[in-house]
Amino acid sequence: EIRLPSDVKLMIDRLRHNGYSGYVVGGCVRDSLRGITPHDWDLTTSAPPEEIERIFADYQTVSVGKKYGTVAVIVEGELYEITTYRIDGEYSDSRHPDEVRFSDRLSDDLARRDFTVNAMAYNDEDGLVDLYGGQQDLANGVIRCVGDPTQRFSEDALRILRALRFAATLGFTIEPDTSDAILRQRKLLSDIAGERIREELLKLLCGDHAAFVLRRYRSVIAVFIPELKGTFDFEQNSKHHNRDVYRHTVAAVHHIEPLPLLRVTMLFHDIGKPLAQTTDKYGMSHYKNHPKIGAAMTREILRRLCMSSAFIDEVCTLIRWHDERFVPDAVMLKGYLKRLGVETMQALMLIQHADILAQSKYMREEKLRTLSAVSDELNRIIAAGECYSLRQLAVNGSDLIHIGVGSGVRIGKTLDLLLDKVIAGELPNDKEALLAYAKSTIDKEG
Ligand code: ATP
Ligand code: MG
Repeated sequence: EIRLPSDVKLMIDRLRHNGYSGYVVGGCVRDSLRGITPHDWDLTTSAPPEEIERIFADYQTVSVGKKYGTVAVIVEGELYEITTYRIDGEYSDSRHPDEVRFSDRLSDDLARRDFTVNAMAYNDEDGLVDLYGGQQDLANGVIRCVGDPTQRFSEDALRILRALRFAATLGFTIEPDTSDAILRQRKLLSDIAGERIREELLKLLCGDHAAFVLRRYRSVIAVFIPELKGTFDFEQNSKHHNRDVYRHTVAAVHHIEPLPLLRVTMLFHDIGKPLAQTTDKYGMSHYKNHPKIGAAMTREILRRLCMSSAFIDEVCTLIRWHDERFVPDAVMLKGYLKRLGVETMQALMLIQHADILAQSKYMREEKLRTLSAVSDELNRIIAAGECYSLRQLAVNGSDLIHIGVGSGVRIGKTLDLLLDKVIAGELPNDKEALLAYAKSTIDKEG
């Protein structure tokens, strides 16, 4: 059932010829059994790290975590991680194993793994090694801890989030005892470093079944993103919504493509609403500056989760503009293209589409019709190569210097003015016409 790549077979054979055992293990076994091609093959072996390096001395090796017994071997341009069987020691702080002890038994290594579906090993000689009923849980779609869930989560609380991640990506349910322990021990997650949370959260959000997990386990998510609590059961008091802010948020996550940028944006797009709420004399709610407030809150959250500043900036820009009322008007849209760029505008189209689908049916057809007209107009402007950026303008800085527009600041301002005139349709995007206009403004100002 499991077909190993020839390089992997070669590595396992080599380990054996040197007196050690070797298996593929973890995610690649799980995915192979699900009929999915693994994105990488991890090996586990009785050979200690120095021996792995010696045995594969004719290949490039990288010591990725020798302390934890992991050596990466590069074969034919592919990187394979080989980890020595190990027993994880006592965990005092729910974060780092205090000590790593190597072992020569595969069973020790499988016992330290998080979930039954991740605790299977395979090689061609011995076949599948499944000591915890991983195959059965895989067939039934169940995430279950290896051993006692309470103990396993207190050893390493990240496993709480990993359980949610696998439920979201595989579409599995979490076995009742494991699920109870998750809800009971969720607070332990507050001690986990942002960068460990980040990886699991992004994978969770991009899972096909993320919405189910976000709904069912919202109290777990709120341990490391307490700002979301304000949206829980926050009723919107508006015809446009038939769900509280959090349930609307989850629906919006569900309706957008599974890319980290878009999913993270959807998770936080309305987080500013509870704080921005005001009520008018008719008892109607308004949320005037909520995208600005939400963008500021999101910046703080994403910093805490150690996201890159480029990613944070993109998410915050999208949140800031997600509620903008665009209309299919070329001049207006070119203004936005100038300000935000093509990629951001295209992302905003997807975001507004998902947002509309997550709202009530009130005016949905009209909203979708307008959005699709806006999107068509944007695509037309882009495809036609119409000018909305300095890059596309028929004159540049040196053209202006040539006709005697002096300093840097002045050049920048003049170019910007010319671009605005071209976007407004007041000047053609034509070098002669633009230079003539620029010259006339200089002459006027003297
Ligand atoms: P993916 O397909 O996303 O890579 P994966 O199962 O390979 O999924 P990894 O995070 O790459 O997940 O971890 C590799 C393996 O290491 C897991 O399958 C599991 O057996 C083990 N593992 C990883 N993290 C932990 C942990 N915190 N506690 C126990 N075992 C873990
Ligand atoms: Mg992996």
